Amino acid sequence: MRLAEAGLAPTLLEAAPEPGGRTRSFLDAATGQWTDNGPHLLIGAYHRTRALLEETGASDVRWQNTLILPLWDETRGRFRFAPPAWLPLAAGMMWQAGLLPGHGVASAAAIARLGLAIRRRLPAHASVREWLASLDVPAPLANDLLAPICLGAMNEPPHTANAASFARVLREAFAGHDSARLGWFTRPLSQALIAPLARRAKRLGATIQTRARVRRLSDITDADIVVLALPAHARNRLLGLDAPADTRAIANLHLWFRDLPPLPAPPAAPFIGVRGRWLFDISEQMHDSDSPREAGGLRHLCLVDSADGAPSSLPARVEEARLLLAALYNSSYDSILGRRAFPRPVHARLVREARATVQVRPHPQPPLPAHVVDASEAPRPGELPATIELAVRRGEEAAKACLERLSG
Ligand SMILES: Cc1cc2nc3c(=O)[nH]c(=O)nc-3n(C[C@H](O)[C@H](O)[C@H](O)COP(=O)(O)OP(=O)(O)OC[C@H]3O[C@@H](n4cnc5c(N)ncnc54)[C@H](O)[C@@H]3O)c2cc1C
Repeated sequence: MRLAEAGLAPTLLEAAPEPGGRTRSFLDAATGQWTDNGPHLLIGAYHRTRALLEETGASDVRWQNTLILPLWDETRGRFRFAPPAWLPLAAGMMWQAGLLPGHGVASAAAIARLGLAIRRRLPAHASVREWLASLDVPAPLANDLLAPICLGAMNEPPHTANAASFARVLREAFAGHDSARLGWFTRPLSQALIAPLARRAKRLGATIQTRARVRRLSDITDADIVVLALPAHARNRLLGLDAPADTRAIANLHLWFRDLPPLPAPPAAPFIGVRGRWLFDISEQMHDSDSPREAGGLRHLCLVDSADGAPSSLPARVEEARLLLAALYNSSYDSILGRRAFPRPVHARLVREARATVQVRPHPQPPLPAHVVDASEAPRPGELPATIELAVRRGEEAAKACLERLSG
Protein backbone atom coordinates (compact mmCIF):
# COMPACT_ATOMS: atom_id res chain seq x y z
CA MET A 1 0.00 0.00 0.00
CA ARG A 2 2.72 2.46 0.98
CA LEU A 3 4.74 1.79 -2.17
CA ALA A 4 1.67 2.12 -4.40
CA GLU A 5 0.77 5.38 -2.63
CA ALA A 6 4.24 6.65 -3.55
CA GLY A 7 3.49 5.99 -7.22
CA LEU A 8 5.35 2.69 -7.60
CA ALA A 9 3.83 -0.51 -9.01
CA PRO A 10 4.45 -3.19 -6.36
CA THR A 11 3.66 -6.87 -6.85
CA LEU A 12 3.00 -9.18 -3.91
CA LEU A 13 4.09 -12.76 -4.61
CA GLU A 14 2.15 -15.06 -2.29
CA ALA A 15 2.74 -18.82 -2.22
CA ALA A 16 -0.71 -19.69 -0.83
CA PRO A 17 -3.99 -19.68 -2.80
CA GLU A 18 -5.15 -16.63 -0.76
CA PRO A 19 -3.28 -13.80 0.94
CA GLY A 20 -3.41 -13.63 4.75
CA GLY A 21 -0.54 -15.80 5.95
CA ARG A 22 -0.95 -16.66 9.60
CA THR A 23 -4.06 -14.48 9.85
CA ARG A 24 -5.93 -16.59 7.30
CA SER A 25 -9.34 -18.22 7.68
CA PHE A 26 -10.69 -21.44 6.22
CA LEU A 27 -14.15 -22.75 5.45
CA ASP A 28 -14.95 -25.55 7.86
CA ALA A 29 -16.84 -28.07 5.73
CA ALA A 30 -18.73 -29.73 8.61
CA THR A 31 -20.30 -26.52 9.94
CA GLY A 32 -20.17 -24.36 6.81
CA GLN A 33 -18.51 -21.71 8.98
CA TRP A 34 -15.59 -19.49 8.09
CA THR A 35 -13.08 -20.20 10.84
CA ASP A 36 -9.86 -18.47 11.75
CA ASN A 37 -6.74 -20.54 11.66
CA GLY A 38 -6.26 -19.17 15.17
CA PRO A 39 -8.21 -16.42 16.96
CA HIS A 40 -6.17 -13.21 17.25
CA LEU A 41 -6.34 -10.60 20.00
CA LEU A 42 -5.30 -6.99 19.62
CA ILE A 43 -4.33 -4.54 22.34
CA GLY A 44 -4.89 -0.80 22.36
CA ALA A 45 -1.12 -0.30 22.16
CA TYR A 46 -1.14 -1.63 18.56
CA HIS A 47 -1.07 1.98 17.35
CA ARG A 48 0.18 1.31 13.83
CA THR A 49 -2.30 -1.53 13.35
CA ARG A 50 -5.16 0.64 14.57
CA ALA A 51 -4.17 3.42 12.18
CA LEU A 52 -3.98 0.93 9.30
CA LEU A 53 -7.38 -0.57 10.14
CA GLU A 54 -8.93 2.88 10.24
CA GLU A 55 -7.30 3.93 7.01
CA THR A 56 -8.57 0.86 5.14
CA GLY A 57 -12.07 1.02 6.62
CA ALA A 58 -11.59 -2.30 8.44
CA SER A 59 -14.11 -1.66 11.18
CA ASP A 60 -15.07 -5.17 12.29
CA VAL A 61 -13.20 -4.88 15.57
CA ARG A 62 -14.66 -4.55 19.05
CA TRP A 63 -12.65 -2.90 21.80
CA GLN A 64 -13.09 -3.09 25.55
CA ASN A 65 -13.61 0.33 27.17
CA THR A 66 -10.89 -0.49 29.67
CA LEU A 67 -8.89 -3.63 30.37
CA ILE A 68 -10.83 -6.60 31.74
CA LEU A 69 -8.82 -9.80 31.94
CA PRO A 70 -11.00 -12.71 33.07
CA LEU A 71 -9.11 -15.42 34.95
CA TRP A 72 -10.11 -18.75 36.36
CA ASP A 73 -8.62 -21.67 38.18
CA GLU A 74 -10.12 -24.73 39.76
CA THR A 75 -9.61 -23.74 43.40
CA ARG A 76 -10.48 -20.05 43.27
CA GLY A 77 -13.09 -20.15 40.51
CA ARG A 78 -13.63 -17.08 38.35
CA PHE A 79 -12.03 -13.74 39.07
CA ARG A 80 -10.79 -10.90 36.95
CA PHE A 81 -8.11 -8.29 36.66
CA ALA A 82 -9.89 -5.05 35.84
CA PRO A 83 -8.08 -1.86 36.95
CA PRO A 84 -10.79 0.76 37.61
CA ALA A 85 -11.05 3.47 34.98
CA TRP A 86 -11.37 6.25 37.58
CA LEU A 87 -7.79 5.73 38.76
CA PRO A 88 -4.67 6.33 36.64
CA LEU A 89 -3.74 2.91 35.19
CA ALA A 90 -0.65 2.36 37.36
CA ALA A 91 -2.56 3.09 40.58
CA GLY A 92 -5.56 1.06 39.36
CA MET A 93 -3.33 -1.94 38.64
CA MET A 94 -1.80 -1.81 42.12
CA TRP A 95 -5.22 -1.51 43.71
CA GLN A 96 -6.66 -4.35 41.63
CA ALA A 97 -3.63 -6.65 42.10
CA GLY A 98 -3.95 -6.26 45.86
CA LEU A 99 -7.59 -7.41 45.68
CA LEU A 100 -7.03 -10.56 43.59
CA PRO A 101 -7.80 -13.73 45.56
CA GLY A 102 -4.60 -15.01 47.24
CA HIS A 103 -2.69 -11.78 46.56
CA GLY A 104 -2.68 -8.69 48.81
CA VAL A 105 -0.18 -5.92 49.52
CA ALA A 106 2.79 -7.96 48.21
CA SER A 107 1.32 -8.04 44.69
CA ALA A 108 0.42 -4.33 44.80
CA ALA A 109 3.98 -3.44 45.84
CA ALA A 110 5.43 -5.69 43.12
CA ILE A 111 3.33 -3.88 40.48
CA ALA A 112 4.92 -0.62 41.68
CA ARG A 113 8.42 -2.13 41.40
CA LEU A 114 7.66 -3.46 37.92
CA GLY A 115 6.38 -0.02 36.88
CA LEU A 116 9.84 1.42 37.65
CA ALA A 117 11.80 -1.56 36.31
CA ILE A 118 10.25 -1.51 32.81
CA ARG A 119 11.87 1.89 32.24
CA ARG A 120 15.38 0.60 32.97
CA ARG A 121 17.72 -0.97 30.43
CA LEU A 122 17.86 -4.75 30.77
CA PRO A 123 20.62 -7.20 29.87
CA ALA A 124 19.91 -8.63 26.40
CA HIS A 125 19.97 -12.27 27.52
CA ALA A 126 18.05 -12.25 30.83
CA SER A 127 14.92 -14.41 30.91
CA VAL A 128 11.57 -13.16 32.19
CA ARG A 129 11.82 -15.55 35.14
CA GLU A 130 15.27 -14.24 36.12
CA TRP A 131 14.08 -10.65 35.79
CA LEU A 132 10.95 -11.21 37.89
CA ALA A 133 13.03 -13.02 40.55
CA SER A 134 15.46 -10.08 40.67
CA LEU A 135 12.47 -7.83 41.40
CA ASP A 136 11.12 -10.14 44.12
CA VAL A 137 7.83 -10.54 42.28
CA PRO A 138 5.70 -12.84 44.46
CA ALA A 139 4.58 -16.19 43.01
CA PRO A 140 0.83 -15.36 42.85
CA LEU A 141 1.45 -12.29 40.68
CA ALA A 142 3.98 -14.12 38.51
CA ASN A 143 1.67 -17.12 38.01
CA ASP A 144 -1.75 -15.47 37.70
CA LEU A 145 -0.95 -12.40 35.68
CA LEU A 146 2.59 -12.21 34.33
CA ALA A 147 2.91 -15.80 33.08
CA PRO A 148 -0.37 -15.63 31.06
CA ILE A 149 0.67 -12.25 29.58
CA CYS A 150 4.11 -13.66 28.76
CA LEU A 151 2.65 -16.77 27.11
CA GLY A 152 0.01 -14.76 25.26
CA ALA A 153 2.31 -12.00 23.99
CA MET A 154 5.61 -13.86 23.57
CA ASN A 155 4.36 -17.42 22.97
CA GLU A 156 6.96 -18.57 25.43
CA PRO A 157 7.00 -19.44 29.12
CA PRO A 158 8.84 -17.05 31.49
CA HIS A 159 11.88 -19.29 31.93
CA THR A 160 12.90 -18.92 28.26
CA ALA A 161 11.15 -15.69 27.15
CA ASN A 162 13.37 -12.63 26.74
CA ALA A 163 13.03 -10.11 29.59
CA ALA A 164 13.95 -7.01 27.56
CA SER A 165 11.18 -7.68 25.03
CA PHE A 166 8.70 -8.60 27.76
CA ALA A 167 9.49 -5.32 29.54
CA ARG A 168 8.81 -3.53 26.26
CA VAL A 169 5.45 -5.31 25.94
CA LEU A 170 4.54 -4.22 29.48
CA ARG A 171 5.77 -0.65 28.86
CA GLU A 172 3.72 -0.26 25.67
CA ALA A 173 0.66 -2.23 26.80
CA PHE A 174 0.30 -0.58 30.18
CA ALA A 175 1.12 2.99 29.12
CA GLY A 176 -2.48 3.99 29.91
CA HIS A 177 -6.07 2.74 29.88
CA ASP A 178 -6.39 3.17 26.11
CA SER A 179 -3.30 1.03 25.42
CA ALA A 180 -4.16 -1.72 27.87
CA ARG A 181 -7.62 -2.64 26.58
CA LEU A 182 -8.19 -5.69 24.42
CA GLY A 183 -9.75 -5.85 20.99
CA TRP A 184 -10.94 -8.67 18.76
CA PHE A 185 -12.28 -9.08 15.28
CA THR A 186 -16.03 -9.61 14.98
CA ARG A 187 -15.76 -11.42 11.66
CA PRO A 188 -13.26 -14.03 10.45
CA LEU A 189 -9.82 -12.52 9.85
CA SER A 190 -9.91 -13.12 6.08
CA GLN A 191 -12.96 -10.84 5.85
CA ALA A 192 -12.29 -8.42 8.71
CA LEU A 193 -8.57 -7.82 8.17
CA ILE A 194 -7.20 -9.24 4.92
CA ALA A 195 -10.00 -8.36 2.47
CA PRO A 196 -10.02 -4.60 3.27
CA LEU A 197 -6.21 -4.42 3.09
CA ALA A 198 -6.07 -6.32 -0.22
CA ARG A 199 -8.90 -4.21 -1.65
CA ARG A 200 -7.15 -0.98 -0.81
CA ALA A 201 -3.77 -2.19 -2.05
CA LYS A 202 -5.30 -3.19 -5.39
CA ARG A 203 -7.22 0.07 -5.67
CA LEU A 204 -3.94 1.92 -5.22
CA GLY A 205 -2.40 -0.04 -8.07
CA ALA A 206 -0.65 -2.96 -6.35
CA THR A 207 -0.82 -6.44 -7.90
CA ILE A 208 -1.40 -9.52 -5.75
CA GLN A 209 -0.30 -12.80 -7.33
CA THR A 210 -1.33 -15.87 -5.38
CA ARG A 211 0.03 -19.43 -5.84
CA ALA A 212 3.31 -17.69 -6.65
CA ARG A 213 5.93 -19.35 -4.45
CA VAL A 214 9.41 -17.87 -4.86
CA ARG A 215 11.98 -20.66 -4.67
CA ARG A 216 15.14 -18.62 -5.15
CA LEU A 217 15.74 -14.91 -4.97
CA SER A 218 17.33 -15.12 -8.40
CA ASP A 219 13.92 -16.19 -9.81
CA ILE A 220 12.80 -12.56 -9.44
CA THR A 221 14.40 -10.90 -12.42
CA ASP A 222 12.17 -7.94 -13.22
CA ALA A 223 12.09 -5.97 -9.93
CA ASP A 224 14.12 -2.89 -8.98
CA ILE A 225 13.82 -3.79 -5.33
CA VAL A 226 12.65 -6.88 -3.42
CA VAL A 227 11.12 -6.86 0.09
CA LEU A 228 11.29 -10.10 2.07
CA ALA A 229 8.18 -10.19 4.27
CA LEU A 230 8.51 -13.69 5.65
CA PRO A 231 9.09 -15.47 8.94
CA ALA A 232 12.87 -15.74 9.54
CA HIS A 233 13.03 -19.47 8.73
CA ALA A 234 11.30 -18.94 5.33
CA ARG A 235 13.63 -16.02 4.57
CA ASN A 236 16.68 -18.12 5.46
CA ARG A 237 15.48 -20.94 3.22
CA LEU A 238 14.98 -18.53 0.35
CA LEU A 239 18.47 -17.09 0.84
CA GLY A 240 20.01 -20.54 1.21
CA LEU A 241 21.22 -19.68 4.73
CA ASP A 242 21.73 -22.29 7.41
CA ALA A 243 20.93 -19.87 10.28
CA PRO A 244 18.76 -20.89 13.25
CA ALA A 245 15.31 -19.31 13.78
CA ASP A 246 13.59 -20.62 16.92
CA THR A 247 9.85 -20.97 16.60
CA ARG A 248 7.10 -22.27 18.87
CA ALA A 249 3.85 -24.03 18.20
CA ILE A 250 0.34 -22.79 18.92
CA ALA A 251 -2.51 -25.31 19.00
CA ASN A 252 -6.08 -24.16 18.38
CA LEU A 253 -8.74 -26.66 19.31
CA HIS A 254 -12.00 -25.56 17.65
CA LEU A 255 -15.08 -27.08 19.29
CA TRP A 256 -18.71 -26.74 18.24
CA PHE A 257 -21.42 -27.54 20.82
CA ARG A 258 -25.18 -27.67 20.55
CA ASP A 259 -27.21 -25.86 23.25
CA LEU A 260 -24.30 -24.62 25.30
CA PRO A 261 -24.71 -21.30 27.16
CA PRO A 262 -22.15 -18.55 26.46
CA LEU A 263 -18.75 -18.84 28.03
CA PRO A 264 -19.13 -17.56 31.58
CA ALA A 265 -17.04 -14.41 31.20
CA PRO A 266 -18.07 -10.82 30.71
CA PRO A 267 -19.26 -10.51 27.12
CA ALA A 268 -16.61 -7.85 26.57
CA ALA A 269 -13.81 -10.36 27.10
CA PRO A 270 -14.35 -13.60 25.25
CA PHE A 271 -11.64 -15.71 26.82
CA ILE A 272 -10.30 -17.11 30.03
CA GLY A 273 -6.59 -17.46 30.65
CA VAL A 274 -5.75 -20.61 32.53
CA ARG A 275 -2.39 -22.38 32.75
CA GLY A 276 -1.22 -21.07 29.39
CA ARG A 277 -4.59 -21.71 27.77
CA TRP A 278 -6.89 -19.11 26.34
CA LEU A 279 -10.51 -19.89 25.80
CA PHE A 280 -12.41 -17.91 23.19
CA ASP A 281 -16.16 -17.89 22.74
CA ILE A 282 -16.06 -17.29 19.00
CA SER A 283 -19.87 -17.20 18.76
CA GLU A 284 -20.00 -14.33 21.29
CA GLN A 285 -17.04 -12.64 19.68
CA MET A 286 -18.78 -12.65 16.32
CA HIS A 287 -22.21 -11.96 17.78
CA ASP A 288 -23.04 -9.17 15.35
CA SER A 289 -22.00 -11.04 12.26
CA ASP A 290 -23.69 -13.80 10.27
CA SER A 291 -21.16 -16.45 11.19
CA PRO A 292 -22.88 -17.99 14.23
CA ARG A 293 -26.12 -18.28 12.25
CA GLU A 294 -24.27 -19.99 9.42
CA ALA A 295 -23.13 -22.56 11.95
CA GLY A 296 -26.75 -23.55 12.60
CA GLY A 297 -26.90 -22.09 16.10
CA LEU A 298 -23.91 -24.07 17.32
CA ARG A 299 -21.67 -22.51 19.96
CA HIS A 300 -18.13 -22.31 18.68
CA LEU A 301 -15.44 -22.27 21.36
CA CYS A 302 -11.72 -22.31 20.71
CA LEU A 303 -9.20 -23.49 23.28
CA VAL A 304 -5.80 -22.05 22.43
CA ASP A 305 -2.59 -23.45 23.83
CA SER A 306 -0.20 -20.59 23.24
CA ALA A 307 2.93 -22.61 23.96
CA ASP A 308 1.97 -26.04 22.77
CA GLY A 309 4.33 -28.82 23.83
CA ALA A 310 4.37 -32.30 22.39
CA PRO A 311 1.62 -32.94 19.86
CA SER A 312 -1.19 -35.11 21.24
CA SER A 313 -4.17 -36.74 19.54
CA LEU A 314 -7.46 -34.97 18.82
CA PRO A 315 -9.57 -37.30 21.05
CA ALA A 316 -7.15 -36.77 23.98
CA ARG A 317 -7.31 -33.01 23.52
CA VAL A 318 -11.12 -32.99 23.25
CA GLU A 319 -11.41 -35.02 26.46
CA GLU A 320 -9.05 -32.67 28.29
CA ALA A 321 -11.01 -29.67 27.02
CA ARG A 322 -14.29 -31.21 28.18
CA LEU A 323 -12.96 -31.64 31.71
CA LEU A 324 -11.74 -28.05 31.77
CA LEU A 325 -14.99 -26.71 30.38
CA ALA A 326 -17.09 -28.82 32.77
CA ALA A 327 -15.21 -27.38 35.76
CA LEU A 328 -15.44 -23.85 34.39
CA TYR A 329 -19.15 -24.02 33.54
CA ASN A 330 -19.99 -25.82 36.81
CA SER A 331 -18.30 -23.16 38.91
CA SER A 332 -20.20 -20.49 37.01
CA TYR A 333 -23.63 -21.92 36.24
CA ASP A 334 -24.48 -23.59 39.59
CA SER A 335 -23.60 -27.07 38.41
CA ILE A 336 -26.27 -27.19 35.75
CA LEU A 337 -23.84 -29.11 33.61
CA GLY A 338 -22.34 -31.96 35.63
CA ARG A 339 -18.93 -33.28 34.74
CA ARG A 340 -20.39 -36.48 33.35
CA ALA A 341 -23.25 -34.72 31.62
CA PHE A 342 -21.03 -32.16 29.98
CA PRO A 343 -21.88 -32.39 26.29
CA ARG A 344 -19.60 -33.77 23.68
CA PRO A 345 -18.85 -31.33 20.88
CA VAL A 346 -20.80 -32.10 17.73
CA HIS A 347 -17.66 -31.26 15.79
CA ALA A 348 -13.99 -30.71 16.72
CA ARG A 349 -11.05 -29.56 14.66
CA LEU A 350 -7.44 -29.10 15.67
CA VAL A 351 -5.26 -26.54 13.93
CA ARG A 352 -1.70 -26.85 15.15
CA GLU A 353 0.72 -24.29 13.75
CA ALA A 354 4.09 -25.92 14.38
CA ARG A 355 5.91 -22.65 13.60
CA ALA A 356 3.37 -20.18 14.90
CA THR A 357 5.79 -17.38 15.76
CA VAL A 358 9.50 -16.67 15.53
CA GLN A 359 10.91 -16.23 19.04
CA VAL A 360 12.81 -13.19 20.28
CA ARG A 361 16.51 -14.06 19.84
CA PRO A 362 19.67 -12.14 18.89
CA HIS A 363 19.06 -12.95 15.21
CA PRO A 364 22.05 -11.85 13.10
CA GLN A 365 21.21 -9.70 10.10
CA PRO A 366 21.95 -11.88 7.04
CA PRO A 367 24.04 -10.44 4.23
CA LEU A 368 21.68 -9.25 1.51
CA PRO A 369 22.12 -8.08 -2.06
CA ALA A 370 21.82 -4.29 -2.45
CA HIS A 371 18.34 -4.48 -4.03
CA VAL A 372 16.82 -6.52 -1.15
CA VAL A 373 15.09 -5.05 1.92
CA ASP A 374 14.52 -7.33 4.90
CA ALA A 375 11.08 -7.07 6.53
CA SER A 376 11.17 -10.56 8.03
CA GLU A 377 9.79 -11.61 11.39
CA ALA A 378 13.03 -11.99 13.37
CA PRO A 379 12.51 -10.04 16.62
CA ARG A 380 15.64 -9.23 18.63
CA PRO A 381 15.94 -8.69 22.40
CA GLY A 382 14.20 -5.45 23.35
CA GLU A 383 11.99 -5.44 20.24
CA LEU A 384 8.30 -6.30 20.23
CA PRO A 385 7.64 -10.03 19.92
CA ALA A 386 6.05 -11.55 16.80
CA THR A 387 2.62 -9.96 16.56
CA ILE A 388 0.37 -8.27 14.03
CA GLU A 389 1.71 -4.94 15.30
CA LEU A 390 5.31 -5.98 14.64
CA ALA A 391 4.29 -7.11 11.13
CA VAL A 392 2.68 -3.73 10.41
CA ARG A 393 5.70 -1.82 11.74
CA ARG A 394 8.08 -4.00 9.72
CA GLY A 395 6.04 -3.32 6.60
CA GLU A 396 5.95 0.45 7.14
CA GLU A 397 9.69 0.57 7.84
CA ALA A 398 10.51 -1.59 4.79
CA ALA A 399 8.45 0.73 2.57
CA LYS A 400 10.42 3.73 3.88
CA ALA A 401 13.71 1.91 3.23
CA CYS A 402 12.61 1.10 -0.34
CA LEU A 403 11.67 4.69 -1.06
CA GLU A 404 14.96 5.96 0.37
CA ARG A 405 16.97 3.53 -1.75
CA LEU A 406 15.06 4.26 -4.90
CA SER A 407 15.36 8.00 -4.44
CA GLY A 408 19.04 7.81 -3.39
C1 LIG B 1 -2.28 -19.44 15.83
C2 LIG B 1 -1.69 -18.06 15.88
C3 LIG B 1 -2.21 -17.13 16.78
C4 LIG B 1 -1.67 -15.84 16.84
N1 LIG B 1 -2.24 -14.94 17.69
C5 LIG B 1 -1.85 -13.64 17.62
C6 LIG B 1 -2.54 -12.65 18.38
O1 LIG B 1 -3.47 -12.96 19.13
N2 LIG B 1 -2.14 -11.36 18.26
C7 LIG B 1 -1.10 -10.99 17.44
O2 LIG B 1 -0.81 -9.79 17.34
N3 LIG B 1 -0.42 -11.91 16.72
C8 LIG B 1 -0.77 -13.22 16.79
N4 LIG B 1 -0.11 -14.16 16.03
C9 LIG B 1 1.09 -13.75 15.25
C10 LIG B 1 0.71 -13.10 13.91
O3 LIG B 1 -0.25 -13.85 13.21
C11 LIG B 1 1.97 -13.00 13.04
O4 LIG B 1 3.03 -12.47 13.78
C12 LIG B 1 1.72 -12.12 11.81
O5 LIG B 1 0.57 -12.53 11.14
C13 LIG B 1 2.94 -12.19 10.90
O6 LIG B 1 2.63 -11.61 9.66
P1 LIG B 1 3.68 -11.68 8.47
O7 LIG B 1 3.00 -11.05 7.31
O8 LIG B 1 4.98 -11.16 8.92
O9 LIG B 1 3.93 -13.23 8.20
P2 LIG B 1 2.95 -14.34 7.61
O10 LIG B 1 1.55 -14.09 8.05
O11 LIG B 1 3.57 -15.65 7.94
O12 LIG B 1 3.01 -14.08 6.04
C14 LIG B 1 4.06 -14.54 5.25
C15 LIG B 1 3.46 -14.98 3.91
O13 LIG B 1 4.52 -15.37 3.05
C16 LIG B 1 4.10 -16.46 2.28
N5 LIG B 1 5.31 -17.18 1.83
C17 LIG B 1 6.18 -17.91 2.58
N6 LIG B 1 7.21 -18.34 1.83
C18 LIG B 1 7.00 -17.85 0.58
C19 LIG B 1 7.72 -17.95 -0.66
N7 LIG B 1 8.87 -18.62 -0.75
N8 LIG B 1 7.19 -17.34 -1.75
C20 LIG B 1 6.02 -16.64 -1.69
N9 LIG B 1 5.32 -16.52 -0.53
C21 LIG B 1 5.80 -17.11 0.57
C22 LIG B 1 3.24 -17.28 3.24
O14 LIG B 1 2.34 -18.12 2.51
C23 LIG B 1 2.52 -16.18 4.01
O15 LIG B 1 1.29 -15.83 3.42
C24 LIG B 1 -0.59 -15.47 15.98
C25 LIG B 1 -0.07 -16.42 15.08
C26 LIG B 1 -0.60 -17.69 15.04
C27 LIG B 1 -0.04 -18.68 14.06
